[in-house]
Amino acid sequence: MRCPKCGFRDDKVIDSRQSRDSSSIRRRRVCLQCAYRFTTYEQIERSDLRVIKRDRTHEPFDRRKLVNSLAKACEKRSISLVTLETAVDEIVHELETSGREVPSATIGTKVLEKLRVIDEVAYLRYASVHRRFEQVDQFVDAIQALGRRIKPNSLQPELFEPEMGGSPPVTAGANDTETKVETHGRV
Ligand SMILES: [Zn+2]
Repeated sequence: MRCPKCGFRDDKVIDSRQSRDSSSIRRRRVCLQCAYRFTTYEQIERSDLRVIKRDRTHEPFDRRKLVNSLAKACEKRSISLVTLETAVDEIVHELETSGREVPSATIGTKVLEKLRVIDEVAYLRYASVHRRFEQVDQFVDAIQALGRRIKPNSLQPELFEPEMGGSPPVTAGANDTETKVETHGRV
């Protein structure tokens, strides 16, 4: 960084700290020739990533949209917002480092890779919406591809309508307790 006072090209960083929201880093520098002190800011370059859609049209990449599509797949599953945001951060980072234009199918594949690890039900929901399974067989294949890690009943209440005349669907599970906020002890 060229010294703003004498133009010397070498300096030393004497202090470095993140902004409160961690979106930038502020560095105090001292010129190695004239000892003048100055400050620089480092920020993430705003992405101009574009998405190529199925119909070949382009649109600017929208992080919000990506978060929403993941959140929708994860509805009523006990997955924290932090987990989703982290997954989105990772996906965005991968996209930004791989080029300026990205096919929507590539984004879909990356989302599936993340969801597969996070939650099987969310994975299947997202896959069924965004992969547009051509046939039931494909959907069954996708379920089987997940292996036998899925607990026998975990898909039942989420993905399939209860049979007529059968027992009522089980909607309340252990997961529900995790979303409750404990308020006792503070009046
Ligand atoms: Zn200087």
